[in-house]
Amino acid sequence: MGLIVQKYGGTSVGSIERIRRVAERIAAYQQAGHELVVVVSAMGKSTDTLVELAKQIAVYPSERELDMLLTTGEQVSIALLAITLQQIGIDAVSLTGWQAGIRTEPIHGRARVKEVDNRRIRAELAKGRVVIVAGFQGVTDEGEITTLGRGGSDTSAVVLAASLQAERCEIYTDVAGVYTADPRVVPSAQKLASISYDEMLELASLGAGVLHPRSVEAAKKYRVKLIVRSSFTDEEGTYIKEDAEMETGRVVSGVAHDEHVAKITVNGLPASGGALSKLFHTLASAQVNVDIIIQGSVAGELTNVSFTVSTDDLPKALEVLKANQAALRFTQVEHETGLSKVSIVGAGMINNPGVAAEMFRQLAEQEISIRMVSTSDIKVSCVIPAEQTTLAVRTLHTAFGLDVPEQAVVHGQ
Ligand code: ADP
Ligand code: ASP
Ligand code: MG
Repeated sequence: MGLIVQKYGGTSVGSIERIRRVAERIAAYQQAGHELVVVVSAMGKSTDTLVELAKQIAVYPSERELDMLLTTGEQVSIALLAITLQQIGIDAVSLTGWQAGIRTEPIHGRARVKEVDNRRIRAELAKGRVVIVAGFQGVTDEGEITTLGRGGSDTSAVVLAASLQAERCEIYTDVAGVYTADPRVVPSAQKLASISYDEMLELASLGAGVLHPRSVEAAKKYRVKLIVRSSFTDEEGTYIKEDAEMETGRVVSGVAHDEHVAKITVNGLPASGGALSKLFHTLASAQVNVDIIIQGSVAGELTNVSFTVSTDDLPKALEVLKANQAALRFTQVEHETGLSKVSIVGAGMINNPGVAAEMFRQLAEQEISIRMVSTSDIKVSCVIPAEQTTLAVRTLHTAFGLDVPEQAVVHGQ
């Protein structure tokens, strides 16, 4: 029986009762002979509550202090889970990110993990203990506490599984696996038995919040066997692996949406002299992630460019652009919110032309206006008005044959 890394999300540890259920599952695995490293998130919505507290004091709280504040959430849940396990006779120890040796780059709010020094974890496992690790947090070489970005506990679990060469990494959450769309938005969504790393990476990056995108990236890189399943039932979950059996040869495997999209337009930008490169370098140096970019036509010496950012990054992006307006030599910056991005994802698209055209047709039939488009080998994304998100997601889910098949009705004799 090998080592397993398990991760329990916020809802799964949202109350003492739920923490007890998690402890029972851990006990069963331990009795079956497994060594266990367990990553937990902060209880329920407590991370949101902490963010709100800071925002009552400052619109832009210091990112360092925000990390200091948010990491307390996970410190509460690891200690409570360790106490619960000890109470039922299981030797357990809780460790913060830095105690567990999770070292990150020196960036607050969305640090990447550089390496895991797993000596402390190994030593605790050697004593026969269940090791409980605080998700979402790490430490820099200078001893500063960092966080990995919202939803980052998944990534903590995967990097630990990679470092410890765990048999597998199990992500326990409040749904039974990865579905063809968010089951809260599409009631007819189907649970996938398996999905490839590449498709899952696209879905997660395009807004399917069930997994932190960096966790999938790390799982693919280090070949970690990843399973998403419910913390409330024993139902089989979804396997994320290299060559997932293609689900009945479907062209589209899933629909994802992201309602945090903002569009920025920079007008009157010099059409030559590397202005575009300077613009996006300036944004990148400020840690602003830019998504879809569309350059307008050139009129005389000037052009304009539109791009999308996450609504979280919008204030920072606008601030940076305004502060650098003279150096970047543009005349005006505009922005628009109230947008969302709807995407279809599927490895089968590579060999099937016309998928994008069909997506546009389906959206047009519902009178959904498409504001921007972006494509890759295995996805097509459209930016649309946010209020039409649910309609768009459901329409595409049905159109691409993803709805759960109607149950055969059994008539009495
Ligand atoms: P946790 O706190 O366990 O990390 P999250 O809220 O981060 O849980 O992720 C689980 C949620 O992801 C589900 O409740 C579901 O609404 C959402 N979700 C979005 N897209 C999908 C999808 N394709 N499959 C499953 N869940 C999805
Ligand atoms: N508690 C953090 C968050 O709410 C990390 C996580 O849940 O993965 O984003
Ligand atoms: Mg999550």
